[in-house]
Order: sequence, then C-alpha cells, then structure tokens
Amino acid sequence: MYDVVVIGAGPAGLSSAIYALRAGRRVLVLEGKSYGGQIVNTPKVENYPGIKEISGFEFATNMFEQAKALGAEVQYEKCTGIERRAAGDFVISAGDHSYECRSIVLAAGAVNRKLGVKGEEELIGKGVSYCATCDGAFFRGKDVAVVGGGNTALEDALFLSNYCKTVSVIHRRDAFRGEKKKELLLREKDNVHFHLEQQVVAIAGEEHLEGVTLRNTATGEEKDLPVEGLFVAVGQMPDTQGFTSLIQVDEGGYVVAEENCHTSIPGIFAAGDCRTKNVRQLTTAVADGSVAALAACAYCEGH
Ligand code: NAP
Repeated sequence: MYDVVVIGAGPAGLSSAIYALRAGRRVLVLEGKSYGGQIVNTPKVENYPGIKEISGFEFATNMFEQAKALGAEVQYEKCTGIERRAAGDFVISAGDHSYECRSIVLAAGAVNRKLGVKGEEELIGKGVSYCATCDGAFFRGKDVAVVGGGNTALEDALFLSNYCKTVSVIHRRDAFRGEKKKELLLREKDNVHFHLEQQVVAIAGEEHLEGVTLRNTATGEEKDLPVEGLFVAVGQMPDTQGFTSLIQVDEGGYVVAEENCHTSIPGIFAAGDCRTKNVRQLTTAVADGSVAALAACAYCEGH
C-alpha cells in the first residue's frame, strides 16, 4: 500500500511527491500524459523567485528527476476512478491497474480552452500563447492581441499594455464578462484597441504568427488584423472528470479546496490548478504541492 498517490506530474504534483518522499513516505505518481504539465509549453520562465531564467521543460525535468532520485514511483496511466473504503483508505483505478493508498493528492491541473481555429496548434510557442504573465515580456514593443471577455483577458490586456506597442482586445460579444473596473482602466489606455462582436476564425503565419482573421458575429464581415502575439484567454477546463462523482467540485469542475488543500473527502487533498483559487501560477502550484503533501502525511499518521 502506498502512503500517498499523487495524481498528476505537473509542478504541483511533483512538489507534493518531493515533500512526501522527504517525509519518509512511499509515493506513487500517476500521470496520464507526460510529466511537467502546462509549464513545459513555456519557452522561458523568468518569474520563479531564485531562478533568473529557465525553460519550462528544463524546470519540469529538474523537478521530475528530483522526485525520482528521492524514490518516487511513476506510472503513466490516467486515473479513472477513486473508491474510498470504510477504513478511510482508497483504491485508485487507472488503466488496467488499481492502486491502494492511505491518502491522495489530486494535482491533475487544468487545460487552457483553445479557440479551435486553423493555425492555432501550429503556432503555439511561435506567437500564440495561453499565458500573458509567462510569455508577455517576449512581446515588448510589439503589436499583440488578447482573445476573451473574462477577467483573465482583461487582466492580460492591462498587463501587456504596459510594454507592448498595441494591444487589440478581441471578444465575441459586445459586453465583457469581466469586471467593469478593469474594462474602464483598459479604455483609458491609448495603445489598447477593442474589437467587439468579433470571433477569431483563422490564425496566419509559418515560422511565426503574422496575424489573425476576425469575423463580425453580427454581420459576418471578415477583416485581417496583423499581430505578432496572440494571447488566448477564453477560460480553462480543470482535468477532473475522473473524480467528480466522489469529490465536491464547483460549477466549473474545479475541486473545492481552500489554501489548506483539504477537499470534501478526508484523506484527499487538492493542489495546483485543479483546485478552486484565484491565482494559477507556477509559484502557487508548487506552494500547494508542499501544503497538500504535508497534509497527506499528517492524515497517514492516523490511517
Ligand atoms: P471566463 O470568465 O470563463 O471567461 C472566458 C471568456 O472567454 C468569456 O468572455 C467567453 O465569452 C470567452 N470564450 C469562451 N470560449 C470562447 C471561444 N471559443 N471563442 C471566443 N471566446 C470564448 O474565464 P477567465 O477569464 O479565465 O476567468 C476564469 C475565472 O477566474 C472567472 O471566475 C474569473 O472571474 C476568475 N478570475 C478572477 C480574476 C480576479 O479576480 N483577479 C482574475 C482572473 C480570473 P462569453 O463571455 O461570450 O461567454
């Protein structure tokens, strides 16, 4: 029986594994894809305190190797179900296997919703980004666009407007879903332009992003907008389908948990982007991982 099964090998999950292993626990990490989570898509991480610059992939690899060196067992299988037994321990189903454990850290992360238009996949990392905080600095002095009408899009546009030449805010409706105050701050900026009732229908470029095609949602009229950066902020989807029958999730599918990472089920803890929280950053994922791991270790004491 494992002491802790960590579901997800992104920064939150690997941080959990490292902390639980250093507390002397037997740890299994279950990962449905490959290790690293969303951070591997970020070419340069420049906002992690103590590390001036590192690629997302190298950062994730360092964490993964650290966890393995401490004794983490890793299985590349997607968790499909969790059963809680009367004694307060768990059986996890994944692929053809099942794993018994005393506690669980859910660190399954979230995936950015994509626009699903031509050119998007091909230009990720070549101008198309899902994280203004991570990648915005690479577009200093350039023309960029942000797609979306929620708080993330408005905040991204405000952030980018501080050092990009122009920021085009593209939203499919004529009113924003995000806070009015943020919209008003944006409207005061000379370098911010609004493209409302516009849907991105194509993304152009070969080696690098060159521009987007917009279609007016009312008239169907199309126009091209040349930009070097496109920040897609159309929401996220937590990767929590396997757990929703057992654990309380909010209306967006995020696992309900406070800063102490406790979920609605004793012995199951949630860390990183899959839990309810306002700030989803590398630093907060790693911090959650340590909090959740130590909570899981404390739970193991009594089970
Ligand atoms: P969100 O609130 O779900 O907004 C997503 C936006 O993307 C919506 O405006 C939506 O349009 C648009 N959208 C969705 N699919 C689209 C598509 N296929 N094509 C074009 N547009 C599309 O997501 P979010 O902004 O990431 O925020 C997530 C949550 O975190 C929210 O609760 C938000 O308030 C919160 N948050 C809070 C803060 C803060 O308080 N500081 C900061 C960031 C986020 P429609 O409006 O037409 O549906």
